Amino acid sequence: MKSTEVALDNLINLISRMPGLGPKSAKRIALHLIKNKENLMKPLADTLEQVYKNVIRCNICGNLKSINFECNCDSQDFDQICVVENIADMWAMESTNIYKGHYHILGGTLSAIRGSDPESLLINSLIERVKKNNVKEVIIATSATIEGQTTAHYINDSLKSINVKITKLAHGLPVGSEIEYLDDGTLFSAFKYRNSIREK
Ligand SMILES: [Zn+2]
Repeated sequence: MKSTEVALDNLINLISRMPGLGPKSAKRIALHLIKNKENLMKPLADTLEQVYKNVIRCNICGNLKSINFECNCDSQDFDQICVVENIADMWAMESTNIYKGHYHILGGTLSAIRGSDPESLLINSLIERVKKNNVKEVIIATSATIEGQTTAHYINDSLKSINVKITKLAHGLPVGSEIEYLDDGTLFSAFKYRNSIREK
């Protein structure tokens, strides 16, 4: 195999590892990039390098931030905090326009299978934020999956010693549904009619 073929194969292989892309679309994308070397492939490569070097996860709120700037997640007090599994879920919540407040992005769920531990999910940081910023309500917006609900229980337990109201997205979310894939209307109602798990 020629080295050009190896390089191209590597490219196709990497692209096909993106979510939602199979080998066929990966090939199409690779060929499209080669056809548009100067106006697409080069800027894409440069941008990837920049993002790789400059964008990191904030270890307080879990959101992405620039390496050169402080995240403003901890600058002042706020009343509500919405706990989501990942950034895509936060974007889904934001697109419903029902909640404009602060988020806490776990970066996953508790899962015995995948071996994720509470530390990597920033649970301690959540506890600290709730205390430090005088939060009045923790809204748990994890998915209606087994992992999502296990995580919700765990968060509820972890906040036991703090005097804060805890709510959860309304039941009626289809079982097994992930926040990211819900339509805006369903998510809007689930948020609006959220259940109180614990009053302050
Ligand atoms: Zn932050």
